[in-house]
Amino acid sequence: MTKLLEVNVLKKHFPLKSDLFGGTKGFVYALDGVTFDLAKGETLSIVGESGCGKSTLGKTVLRLVEPTDGEIWLDGERIDNIPSGQLRQMRRRVQVVFQDPFSSLNPRQRVRDIIGEPIVNFGLAHGSELEDRVAALMDKVRLPRDAMHRFPHEFSGGQRQRICIARALAPGADLIICDEAVSALDVSVKAQIVNLLSDLQDELGLALLFISHDLAIVEHLTHRVAVMYLGKIVELADRAILFSTPHHPYTRALLSAVPVPDPTVKRQRIILTGDVPSPINPPSGCRFHTRCPYVFDRCRVEEPVLRKTGVAGQVSACHLDVVPDA
Ligand code: SF4
Repeated sequence: MTKLLEVNVLKKHFPLKSDLFGGTKGFVYALDGVTFDLAKGETLSIVGESGCGKSTLGKTVLRLVEPTDGEIWLDGERIDNIPSGQLRQMRRRVQVVFQDPFSSLNPRQRVRDIIGEPIVNFGLAHGSELEDRVAALMDKVRLPRDAMHRFPHEFSGGQRQRICIARALAPGADLIICDEAVSALDVSVKAQIVNLLSDLQDELGLALLFISHDLAIVEHLTHRVAVMYLGKIVELADRAILFSTPHHPYTRALLSAVPVPDPTVKRQRIILTGDVPSPINPPSGCRFHTRCPYVFDRCRVEEPVLRKTGVAGQVSACHLDVVPDA
């Protein structure tokens, strides 16, 4: 498949300012060498606990925060180093849907203007053609056309998220970053939005970077999954492989907490001890070593790199070739 997005050794270190003289007294290592790619029409999910860096990753790809180091390529064009004034074309192709649809919609704008705004801003249509485009986008996200004259507060949470999706599609985006886009919704509404995204992907060939802490949702939507821990990807695999034969101990612990719909199947819960270490001062060696049930001496001093596990399409950053069952 043709690569749409390539991210190479991406870093984002937020400086910690000292109160006294404004100097830098340290860094938050939010992203610390993240590498992955995303094909046209593919969904890659980024999962991990709160604070692992997954939302910073989305914002950095969007250039809402500037990367500290590394490269971001969109369809063969390097976008991490182009001046902010030249980001317009990239912003047309890469759109975002955030978690809270209410705060990301202007309460004083009608839906027609919300969805139409990017079309107007990019000079794609005006007048009756603009109206037709907005109506077609309402159809795509399965909202009634006459709702385009209403305000955001007149919609449910799920409907508001549909408006956000329509706005993301409006300029003709081919990559949508969904940052916890369904996390705030009720279970049944979540499923509807996930199905909508999946249908839109099939219809339009969209690529989705789906950032979520919810592995149960990810399993129904994604092609591949990248698991992040403290600013790094610790495992990346095809969905079926990650959910059936996870390699990294952290992935296993995350998956053990996912409810199984079949009551006859019992999954042994792996309880991780200790809190997630601070990204200001990440542990030496393997960043997971302070919580890993399989830690041994080498883990404390030598950082494991992502390497093939022997299963096609799976890489894991663990010194163990074979991780024992819990
Ligand atoms: Fe655990 Fe060591 Fe593997 Fe890290 S490298 S996940 S500490 S076994």
